[in-house]
Amino acid sequence: MMRINETFFSIQGESTFAGWPCFFIRTTGCPLRCRWCDTTYSFYEGEERTLDSLVDEALSHPAPLVEVTGGEPFSAPELPRLVEKLLDAGKTVLIETSGALPVPQGLDRRCHLVMDIKPPGSGMAHLMAEETFRALRPGDEIKAVIADRGDFDFCLDFLDRLALPREIPVTFSPVFGECSPGELAEWVLSSGREIRVGIQLHKILFDPERRGV
Ligand code: SF4
Repeated sequence: MMRINETFFSIQGESTFAGWPCFFIRTTGCPLRCRWCDTTYSFYEGEERTLDSLVDEALSHPAPLVEVTGGEPFSAPELPRLVEKLLDAGKTVLIETSGALPVPQGLDRRCHLVMDIKPPGSGMAHLMAEETFRALRPGDEIKAVIADRGDFDFCLDFLDRLALPREIPVTFSPVFGECSPGELAEWVLSSGREIRVGIQLHKILFDPERRGV
């Protein structure tokens, strides 16, 4: 059994997979408290689900893509078993994680990790440890949600120290309604770095206050 906040079928919005139809599984619980968190309802709400029922629901949707998100999926002890079952069922599996917790032991690395850098604007920068990010491999990616120029510079410095291979793409997105996407694009262009500018696509396609998108 696994405590699940919600499941839904929507459009992937925040990675190199952005734009693809995707079945989402949102786990309950997160040890972080990001200032701009838009899923605070996932901290405590949820119901116990069997892993097989989650796989069956994923298979009921035609899209090959499944994302396990949160909350913080890495805080769910059942995660490795769920991911293995989804992969064995033929799904492509993404896991969105905060960057604050280490990769769980036994996680089937056929999955793709989308690991956040939490900059100071999130209030969680003190939880970022370089060794957590050194577990990333080609096929994984890094994402950061940027509130202002200080956040942008923090993430560039963090990436410099990591010096990860360029096969691990990096996407920066503006905090919705707070940082101008155009301004962020200008910072990226003048930095000369290989960073993708992302928009939180699901918040443009759907009501940003709506759950399950
Ligand atoms: S890690 Fe995600 S779920 Fe947890 S507080 Fe931050 S934004 Fe919210």
